[in-house]
Amino acid sequence: MFSTMQDVPLTVARILAHGSTVHGRATVTTWDGTGPVTRTYAELGARAAQLAYALRDELGVTPEHVVGTLMWNNADHMEAYLAVPAMGSVLHTLNLRLAPAQLAYIVNHAADHAIIVNGSVLPLLAGVLPQLAPTLKHIVVSGPGDLSLLAGFAGTVHEYEQLIAGRPTEYPWEEEIDERRPAMICYTSGTTGDPKGVVYSHRSIYLHCLQVNSAATFALTPQDTALPVVPMFHVGAWGIPHAAFMSGANLLMPDRFLQPQPLATMIDLVKPTVSGAVPTIWNGLLDELDHPTARETPYDTSSLRMVVIGGSACPPALMRGFEERHGIRLVHAWGMTETSPLGTFALPPAGLSADEEWAYRVTQGVFPASVEARLTGPGGERMPHDGVSAGELEVRGPWIAGAYYGGAGQDPERPEDKFSEDGWLRTGDVGTITPDGFLTLTDRAKDVIKSGGEWISSVELENHLMAHQEVLEAAVVAVPDEKWGERPLAAVVLRPGATVDLPGLRAFLAGRVASWQLPERWSLVAAVPKTSVGKFDKKVIRAEYAAGLLDVTVLGKE
Ligand code: ADP
Repeated sequence: MFSTMQDVPLTVARILAHGSTVHGRATVTTWDGTGPVTRTYAELGARAAQLAYALRDELGVTPEHVVGTLMWNNADHMEAYLAVPAMGSVLHTLNLRLAPAQLAYIVNHAADHAIIVNGSVLPLLAGVLPQLAPTLKHIVVSGPGDLSLLAGFAGTVHEYEQLIAGRPTEYPWEEEIDERRPAMICYTSGTTGDPKGVVYSHRSIYLHCLQVNSAATFALTPQDTALPVVPMFHVGAWGIPHAAFMSGANLLMPDRFLQPQPLATMIDLVKPTVSGAVPTIWNGLLDELDHPTARETPYDTSSLRMVVIGGSACPPALMRGFEERHGIRLVHAWGMTETSPLGTFALPPAGLSADEEWAYRVTQGVFPASVEARLTGPGGERMPHDGVSAGELEVRGPWIAGAYYGGAGQDPERPEDKFSEDGWLRTGDVGTITPDGFLTLTDRAKDVIKSGGEWISSVELENHLMAHQEVLEAAVVAVPDEKWGERPLAAVVLRPGATVDLPGLRAFLAGRVASWQLPERWSLVAAVPKTSVGKFDKKVIRAEYAAGLLDVTVLGKE
């Protein structure tokens, strides 16, 4: 009989033990609004140990318990990220931009035993307290905040620094626990429905970290400083915090200062090399870099070697704007809460001309070996990977969800529209895959515009519109149409001082897409409504249109 290799569990505790010793001199820097505050990974490891003692001995946290965090991206949040899973319990990152009812829903659904909350977010937590189940026993407040807001809470309130102070700085981390045990729960942001819980295991986090650190993606090394603008409550900040701790890359945490001006300032001063966020953030930053609001000189962004953009389709004009005007390389990636999120990453193959490279870079990218992909047509048939045939994307792999969390004591949920009979995740995204494995998404299944017998890609229309110099944002949605079933409606935000009018925009688009795809209905809006993670909220636009709240101009034949 063969004897193969050692079967050592892949755990968050291993990441913590490694990062806080071998990479002990690496740093996490939190932006406090005016400047950077720095902690080393060695200090972070020691404080994570103190937090674990406090949670275990003071708050009675056991491996069965879920500990929530309602926090921005900062060093204290990082301590919880490491300590809670490494002590064998389950971390639940709470999205602080969810509607209050949804926030209460996910706290109760996961039966959070304790919540660690930033003082600046206390008003939000205080507002939902009456809706929280009695399973919540403790609230730990990190940073300054008005504790009197929690007066109505029946459990115990703690202050983070006092709670951890004086406790031992080494903890017997659970390095030998079953790697398939739950480590972290993230809920989807509910762009197209109620939030659903996805439970990451130690193993899935560990393997995903290796991928984030690989040269096929972020390639983090100790020479790097990673700036996760994507919130730690949104798919674990794409795995960047754990991966940085594993590889010894420094972290720059923006806390709540996510507006274009502070972001540009911290990039200028702290000099991150890598960053990641959704297109809305990069759109705002590009504007700030083009026209700084409160300074004469341009920002220095030369430290950035790669800026990753995902979460929604990247308008090619945005990618070109960063590269041509600021020398910043944007890299497109696709993923979802259910995929941890690393699904694809758009690094082009070698040996291509500049134009050929662009053609690859604007796609969503290529799947890593661990993520298998297939396309399913409307009748359930497998579609070829020929770069032309479109279908719903299905994926499987070691960091892809196998089910949704059913709630404490409940069975996992595997709804048919989300999981195939043979266990693949149905992403709800529609697109094509080339023979060499590059994915191009045309839409979410729910956002596709079905006009007559044809499908119109809302993303394609948006990308063309956003390539117009005077357009800041454009969202295209399907609206009901008597003759065609559905037709596109374009909601457009113009840049200040823009001179183009709606007929002008229509003419601009007419040169770029087939005439039957041209929207008839147009609306100038002050801003495109956004979801809790900064994506275009198309269901709000559709609802506003249905309720007659949009000022719509009809151009061309209806
Ligand atoms: P939610 O589904 O609640 O918005 P997620 O953040 O998990 O939460 O969203 C995942 C979805 O975001 C994907 O299924 C896809 O529709 C969209 N998405 C993510 N990255 C991209 C991308 N690069 N291009 C187009 N769509 C993307």
